[in-house]
Amino acid sequence: MLTSMPSVALSSPWRTLAANVLDGADVSKAQALAILDSSDEELLELVNAAFEIRKKHFGKTVQLYFLMNAKSGLCPEDCHYCSQSKISDAPIPKYNILSRDKLLEGAKLAAERQSKTYCIVISGRAPNEREIQAIEKIVPEIKQTFGLNICACLGLLNESQAQRLAAAGVDKVNHNLNTSQDYYPQICTTHTFEDRIETLKNVRKAGLELCSGGIIGMGESRQDIVEMAFSLRELAVESIPLNFLHAIDGTPMQQKEYLSARDCIRALAMFRFVNPRSELRIAGGRERHLRSLQPLGLMIANSIFIGDYLTTQGQAPLEDYRMIEDLGFEITGQAALPETTQADIPHPEISQAKCQSASDPTQRSCCG
Ligand code: SF4
Repeated sequence: MLTSMPSVALSSPWRTLAANVLDGADVSKAQALAILDSSDEELLELVNAAFEIRKKHFGKTVQLYFLMNAKSGLCPEDCHYCSQSKISDAPIPKYNILSRDKLLEGAKLAAERQSKTYCIVISGRAPNEREIQAIEKIVPEIKQTFGLNICACLGLLNESQAQRLAAAGVDKVNHNLNTSQDYYPQICTTHTFEDRIETLKNVRKAGLELCSGGIIGMGESRQDIVEMAFSLRELAVESIPLNFLHAIDGTPMQQKEYLSARDCIRALAMFRFVNPRSELRIAGGRERHLRSLQPLGLMIANSIFIGDYLTTQGQAPLEDYRMIEDLGFEITGQAALPETTQADIPHPEISQAKCQSASDPTQRSCCG
């Protein structure tokens, strides 16, 4: 008899909140904090609710991004999480901006891996004239040859530099806020949160899309994570990469501990609720911290990096293609997933060189 069965909640507060968001309501900071504080028992209900929002704005699509570390190390800034900073002893490759041929080789690999967006990333506080000119020169060639979208991550930009990037055909600029305004001095002292906001405003004025996110796990509070999500909402950022700190030996954050995979899921869900229309990308630290919960993460986020990070190896692309296929999702703008029975796509020489030279795993910088 139905009446004698134990009562089961057919709806959860998270589904109600998702319904409100789908009706156009904004989540409050208190509600965002409640998402981060929610229990493990509620986790699947939370994912389910966040999936409703994902589905409305992105369906079952996944957008792949491909990172090219176009200049590595040699940075005068002191971002405490970054292996490329002046205060890092991490044994990473150090080189100046790559040649045209190397950048084109990376673009070819990005296209072969079914990426829609090729991210050209250089380390440093801000680009110099030579670097801006190199980007201006290579971007039209990449777009014409491979039809990729271009995201440039070059550090702090003034208005004129942003306009030059727009004129060259760059689609979006990445510049991460990384954390809250209050916590920023704890992660960097050579530039400020306000400097970063100014760059994002310059990028917006130039008519470019904004790509900006952050890093979870640097010792910040849950309130700081919420504040960052709301700062991104205020800026109407189109694309949010959410990193999970990969603590690197040789950096001031080398002692930070592993994050709970479930906390990572809650953080992704909170960003999805607060920024429902923004593309949400699970970025650096995905494999390390989400581990076996990566598919749950992708039910909330709608984008990932395929292949390696700036100086760290990602998981094999075939594992990502399989995950996407197993979830019943499809890669945006791509004709078909590769046959999962085929051998893995071999890493061309450029990627191999990058992986082998990274003797210690390091993570994406703020510039990525
Ligand atoms: S995150 Fe960017 S600006 Fe900061 S130290 Fe690393 S490369 Fe330099």
